[in-house]
Amino acid sequence: MLKLLSSRIFQIKNPVTCLPKNSCFKHFAKMASPISLTLPSGQKMPALGLGTWEAKSDEEVATALNTALEQGYRHIDTAFVYENERAIGGVLQKWFSTGKLNREDLFITTKLPMVGVHPDRVDMFIKKSLNNLQLDYVDLYLIHFPVGCKYEEGSVRPIINENGEIETEKKTDHVALWAKMEEQVDAGRAKNIGLSNYNISQISTVLQTARIKPANLQVELHVYLQQPELVDFCQKNGITVVAYSPLANPGFNKFLEKIGQQPKELPNILGDAVIAKLAEKYSKTPAQIALRFLIQRGVAAIPKSVTPKRIQENISIFDFALDDDEMNTLKGLEVGEVARVCDFKVFPGLDIHPDFPFVAAK
Ligand code: NDP
Repeated sequence: MLKLLSSRIFQIKNPVTCLPKNSCFKHFAKMASPISLTLPSGQKMPALGLGTWEAKSDEEVATALNTALEQGYRHIDTAFVYENERAIGGVLQKWFSTGKLNREDLFITTKLPMVGVHPDRVDMFIKKSLNNLQLDYVDLYLIHFPVGCKYEEGSVRPIINENGEIETEKKTDHVALWAKMEEQVDAGRAKNIGLSNYNISQISTVLQTARIKPANLQVELHVYLQQPELVDFCQKNGITVVAYSPLANPGFNKFLEKIGQQPKELPNILGDAVIAKLAEKYSKTPAQIALRFLIQRGVAAIPKSVTPKRIQENISIFDFALDDDEMNTLKGLEVGEVARVCDFKVFPGLDIHPDFPFVAAK
């Protein structure tokens, strides 16, 4: 089905060069990422950020981050489980100590790992992340996934039992967990707090009792998995949205191979004929069209790359705009759940947990 969709050809008409009308957008002069989303706190999050999952070695992280900062990226996404916070922190310190950047120039996100998804562990894990990053605060702290995993002192990866299944906690107490997230804002450790991989029902549960409303939801979003209902729900509730795997992660099978799992069929956004045609028209690459589409939907995107040329390419999307017909054409590429890349099925047994957020692909 994905291959079928990739081979479709659409007619493109009436190009215009207007910028999106979404009220969340603000334009900054002389910045490589001139569009930002405003969080409920009033803080601005650059709409294009650098993803860092699977950027592992210190050298790889340094090359990627230095290139990104030089190219004008000011929004960096990491997570405790990416095991690169320490390397990122080291690079950031060099930029701060040489006076090339101030802390407040940057928007840094990190995430509470699944082994930390328990009211008793939020304090401990955010402190670990801040220590790794050598920062006093993060701009955004997210609950990485709505399911909590068993935690053993000293071990920060989920435990896999003798049946090969992940050891999870019972149902997550989202209300108590969120109250602990709010305490991180009170304590000055996080400027903003949010959710990742939560579905509408789980976000609603949090919203019902939140003293500080979630500022952001980070979920997988790309032209083949557009989740319009979820994005609408967030935007109506003042929750900004960040698209992860915005290119549908063409490197995902490398990751599966590394952890000894079978490769899976991946959506091939970068090889899509419709996107290729738009790329040709604007003298852009398919990746740039796919990212521009997301930005014009009023969401932020955090493409990951450790390749300098691609890092530069991914942020060079602010000198053109897709017109309404083109946006509608790209909306027509929606495939739905079957195009989800990060389905978290790499953790055996996670999908039967009552808090598993995704519906099965039909
Ligand atoms: P992406 O869609 O960003 O794809 C990354 C892959 O695409 C890498 O293999 C990269 O290769 C390649 N790539 C990047 N730019 C280009 C380009 N212009 N042309 C061709 N190939 C390109 O997937 P991710 O899953 O990494 O998502 C982005 C970020 O979102 C993550 O890094 C992470 O920060 C976050 N994330 C959050 C999750 C969550 O649960 N909250 C889950 C997954 C991701 P190379 O690096 O070799 O250049």
